Amino acid sequence: MPQPKSTAELRALDAAHHLHPFSDMKALNAEGSRIITRADGVWLTDSEGNRILDGMSGLWCVNVGYGREEIVDAVAAQMRELPYYNTFFKTTHQPAIELSAKLAELTPPQFNRVFFTGSGSESNDTVIRLVRRYFDIREKPQKKVIISRRNAYHGSTVGAASLGGMAPMHEQGGLPIPDIVHIAQPYWWGEARQGETMEEFGIRTARALESVIDAMGEDRIAAFIAEPIQGAGGVIIPPITYWPEIARICRERDILFVSDEVICGFGRTGQWFGCETYHTHPDILVMAKGITSGYMPLGGVMVADKVAEVLMEGGDFNHGYTYSGHPAACAAALANLAIMQREKLVERVAENVGPYLKARWSALAEHPLVGEAPMVGLVGALELTPDKVGRTSFPDVGKVGTLARDFSFANNLVMRAVRDRLIIAPPLVISHGECDELIARARRTLDQTYAELK
Ligand code: PLP
Repeated sequence: MPQPKSTAELRALDAAHHLHPFSDMKALNAEGSRIITRADGVWLTDSEGNRILDGMSGLWCVNVGYGREEIVDAVAAQMRELPYYNTFFKTTHQPAIELSAKLAELTPPQFNRVFFTGSGSESNDTVIRLVRRYFDIREKPQKKVIISRRNAYHGSTVGAASLGGMAPMHEQGGLPIPDIVHIAQPYWWGEARQGETMEEFGIRTARALESVIDAMGEDRIAAFIAEPIQGAGGVIIPPITYWPEIARICRERDILFVSDEVICGFGRTGQWFGCETYHTHPDILVMAKGITSGYMPLGGVMVADKVAEVLMEGGDFNHGYTYSGHPAACAAALANLAIMQREKLVERVAENVGPYLKARWSALAEHPLVGEAPMVGLVGALELTPDKVGRTSFPDVGKVGTLARDFSFANNLVMRAVRDRLIIAPPLVISHGECDELIARARRTLDQTYAELK
């Protein structure tokens, strides 16, 4: 452990040497970062002694909460035994083998094989390579196009950011790469037509997939990729008609359906995987974050048997990462999943704490600033609006969201803002008392933001 330094010293070093992800460094250095020093359960502590309720599970990942000695011990023991070895060139090791088998047990029945990566982004880059390889082997090399959705987030590498539908990311660096097409997202509040019901909107938006397949020709389309609930795009919870219609379209066409479960996986929606909550039937399932609860970096791509069987007929798959199946990361995942199973955390989200928080979160929709307050499992959003009935947006999109996010931080509650939408995804272990505290701080945040706008 480094020797402790003062907050001022740390901020000065940070400003001099550290480029933060997704940050305006000039503005950040002028303000100075909050320095997080420790964490326990759902609580963070910063270098100034503040106790902060982590409403975002770090970056949607610390599902079992902070301070789990069991994971720490498993990683330490693995590091003493075998800190690293690769899984290339005819070698493997017990943690990777056991985790593969555990994932086959936890995922839907069509999945029995996993390709390990180091992150969600690497997993989605793997998806691009893998689906194209699959159709090459099937002698359909022209099937290359992957359909995704606007405002999707699939990661930050060149491939994953191209799959994503984030315009500000595409604007920097000439993305997307060729053969990736984006269709509408099921964002009812922001994109429904006047008078259109949620159900009608869900069907219309899903059929955008069918239209693109028809327009481009099924023989060119390899896959459709989507998050069950768009997370970083603002917790966009689709209307109930959306997923059944998408599932129908994918079933009728020879394209692969990829469920990006980097956020929704491992209990977030009240089932092990979001595709189970929405009864879709993916061919490929992408995971990261909650697989280790963020204690170690690890990602994976689960491949359905029908895809795996073709890949295994194709000889070498020329793809892999130094840290694919890192033993210490796999040990962390095994310990994390053991905690989730033993403490029945997924059932807890579905039957206990999920409904408890949702009842209180939904009540925030009565606040004059809030247009809608949807929540599934333990992931939710608050759409901030100047006009609930007319469903309008604030003129300078994002300004009010940022103001509210900063109030929330000052109230020692981490919520994130996407445009003018506040979002939460707390650890799955959050207690009822902590839910009450979260709601009290969120309400105070809304009141302060509303007062500031008057
Ligand atoms: N996919 C989804 C749905 C995500 O939310 C994220 C990250 O937030 C990623 C992929 C990228 O994961 P990573 O940051 O581990 O590369």
